[in-house]
Amino acid sequence: MSKGRLLIVSGPSGSGKDTILKKAFERLDGVKFSISTITRPMRPGEVEGEKYNFVSVECFEEMIKKGQLLEYNNYIGNYYGTPKAPVEKVIKEGGEIIVEVDVNGHRNIKNMIDSAVSIFIMPPSFEVLKQRLSGRGTDPDEVINKRMESALAEIACAKEYDYIVVNDNLEEAVDDFINIVKSDRLCIERQNYLVDEVLKKC
Ligand code: 5GP
Repeated sequence: MSKGRLLIVSGPSGSGKDTILKKAFERLDGVKFSISTITRPMRPGEVEGEKYNFVSVECFEEMIKKGQLLEYNNYIGNYYGTPKAPVEKVIKEGGEIIVEVDVNGHRNIKNMIDSAVSIFIMPPSFEVLKQRLSGRGTDPDEVINKRMESALAEIACAKEYDYIVVNDNLEEAVDDFINIVKSDRLCIERQNYLVDEVLKKC
């Protein structure tokens, strides 16, 4: 059985990571997505259980107490966390699961699981990022400004990742993302079993 893989994806709000992931999932077989549990209010158009499970602060803190989260962070006043059980299940079964987390989540996961492969989605420029965030029209100015501040801090951490995908041309960015996932499937760490199988048959 191939070795399972945890893939970590980060990028500032407005970098286009959701769009890249959505398009990549249409072309990648068998990759699972980790649904985060969060306490931020639902935005228009968001669906419970699609990308996030929306819970109360009390419920989230109960999950922390029970050790049900692989990692969690407080991002601009709201909790965001990765449920542990689904990630462990997929990895144990030799599958691939993508967690989309902020830079703190990336650091925390890498400290626990150093075989995790991480990809940072980079906006082509700060100006483009600002246009994308203001153009979304879903957040008040105060939140947009906080997201811009966070974006700068997050970009400063991009060097800690294994790969960077620049989202200038969407289709190229999706291709780059898919190429990373597919190349990772071919690495020796995940294909050791093949060598043993061939040798067994000799
Ligand atoms: P948004 O509110 O724009 O959906 O997400 C804000 C930030 O939280 C993004 O950087 C996103 O990647 C991050 N995020 C989403 N889910 C998780 C999670 O489970 N854990 C952590 N640490 N960050 C998350």
